[in-house]
Amino acid sequence: MKKFKTESKRMLDLMINSIYTNREIFLRELLSNASDAIDKLYYKSLTEGLSGLTREDFAINISVDKDARTLTVSDNGIGMNEEELENNLGTIAKSGSLAFKAENADAKDVDIIGQFGVGFYASFMVAKKVEVISKKFGENAAYKWESEGADGYDVTACERDGNGTDVILYLKDDAEEDKYSDFLTEYKLKELVKKYSDYIRYPIKMLVTSYEYPEHDNEHDEECDCGHDHEHEHEHKHEEPKEVKKVETLNSMIPVWKKSKSELKEGELEQFYKDNYYDAKDPLKVITISAEGAVDYKALLFIPETIPFNYYTKNYEKGLSLYTSGVLITDKCADLLPDYFNFVKGVVDSELTLNISRETVQQNRQLKAIAANIEKKIKSELTSMLADDREKYKTFFKNFGTSIKYGIYSSWGMKNDLADLLVFESAKGETVTLKEYVDSMGEGQKYIYYACGKSVEAVKALPRTAAVLDKGYDILCLTEDVDEFCIKMLRTYSEKEFKSIESGDIGIDSENVAIDAKVAEKIVALLGDKVKKVVGSKSLKNHPVCLSSEGEVSIEMEKVLSSTPGGEGAKAEKVLEINVDHNVYSKLVKLAETDDPDFDKIAYVLYEQARLIAGLPVDDATELTDKIFEII
Ligand code: ADP
Repeated sequence: MKKFKTESKRMLDLMINSIYTNREIFLRELLSNASDAIDKLYYKSLTEGLSGLTREDFAINISVDKDARTLTVSDNGIGMNEEELENNLGTIAKSGSLAFKAENADAKDVDIIGQFGVGFYASFMVAKKVEVISKKFGENAAYKWESEGADGYDVTACERDGNGTDVILYLKDDAEEDKYSDFLTEYKLKELVKKYSDYIRYPIKMLVTSYEYPEHDNEHDEECDCGHDHEHEHEHKHEEPKEVKKVETLNSMIPVWKKSKSELKEGELEQFYKDNYYDAKDPLKVITISAEGAVDYKALLFIPETIPFNYYTKNYEKGLSLYTSGVLITDKCADLLPDYFNFVKGVVDSELTLNISRETVQQNRQLKAIAANIEKKIKSELTSMLADDREKYKTFFKNFGTSIKYGIYSSWGMKNDLADLLVFESAKGETVTLKEYVDSMGEGQKYIYYACGKSVEAVKALPRTAAVLDKGYDILCLTEDVDEFCIKMLRTYSEKEFKSIESGDIGIDSENVAIDAKVAEKIVALLGDKVKKVVGSKSLKNHPVCLSSEGEVSIEMEKVLSSTPGGEGAKAEKVLEINVDHNVYSKLVKLAETDDPDFDKIAYVLYEQARLIAGLPVDDATELTDKIFEII
């Protein structure tokens, strides 16, 4: 027996021991694997011109054996050879994200399990033993993979007619609460196919029992001339209905995005989203596009509410599923979405020329046009959400706004139109868009003011905040690392320049005032190139000092850059501002006059305090504490 790879084993353990209530999804996973396998073969037949394969030949079969307690899902898709059985079922394919997931998953955390496609291993939620019999298309040998779970698996040679795969589940014994034998009933299986796999584009067939009344001969019909059916109904009551078994197709095969409004059930699109993107919550927005003209395509897009578990990791891949002529070309076509809308999920279906390969998708002109269209549509939907449902938009922006900010920052001015989608916390309260900010600017206000901090509270506590607010000017609170980089890239909005309240000249009168020459001279001598200059200020209210900056790199940017490789050297040109109305200043003036040695200690402590208020680390913690002790 072979052992599972470590991460597969963890996943398996998670499945076997899971208290996950939604076990029934195992069937969806098997059916979608079967459909993928058929897609692969159909795609191959179209692109490589294999003869003798038509779409009608493909089907998925479900069968049960009540006595043996087995449930079998069969397909006549591409199949797997010995090596593929080993590699695909012995290891978890998407090891990166799944490993990440398993690392972080508490086996009891139901939602976490529900968030990602558990795939083939979901079988072990309901089965004590699983056999996979498969024959690869174009090869002669068939193989059987079997496993009873955690210990490992075996692969042996076997027989199978034709290419394809049978997955045979030996269901677990019924327990009081878990009636696994439900999965052997026609009723349950039909229900599950309808619920989760209705849109699968190949027929899912099953032998279904129905009851029919024996047909009456014509003579009998003629005798009855009442013209109504009730006579027959009456007769049926006396006859035993006959049990008839017929193969039925359980799924409608119409993908949801092809259904018309009247064909769609209430909540069907939302349900499609939840089942396919493994989200417990409805999407914030469902977008449907049906374009005709230069390019014909249908698209079904979703703006999620939930942040995908790996959204902020390298493993996250943006993209939309791309179908053409009913065949899945790729389930993550990255070229259909710009990075700043990477959170959008969904499907694009278009009658493109079929021989585009999965690799040459990005060179396709039609596809480019579709992508441009989709981008425009997403933007306009977000714009309307912002206008019509501010609360919803705030939720959206909290979760995915960062992407848009990065989009602006990394586009070098090309994507400034995205600025209309930005929302900031305002120091006056509430949130503001840039347009709202500019619209509310008074006559005398020259700039769009902003300030950076860890939180709105931190921004409100900044030395200069009160002075700016006192003038009646609002301040955008930039609380994310990317914020100021984004703003700097925009430079202006509606011809108004952005201005950090922590920069040198912020356009509020009487800010910089003369400072005692001796004090300035002594501080410069003490601090050297730690600061560019020392100035007096009247806009600091009750704060004794603050640091502001001049030049391109702000203090906030220095902080962000210093934590990125290569950015350590970027330093803001700092200006130490001293509140000339503060007692501390008067004290400094006195000490300077007499060249008192305490001057340096106090000035040094003030400088370090200013750094702390600006959110910068102190230069030298030991020296600072020593000086404080000396003063005490
Ligand atoms: P996923 O489908 O998400 O990749 P699974 O664990 O469900 O993960 O399946 C692992 C792999 O096994 C699939 O990617 C596919 O290559 C292969 N596989 C599973 N079921 C079938 C099938 N019925 N026919 C052919 N290959 C299959």
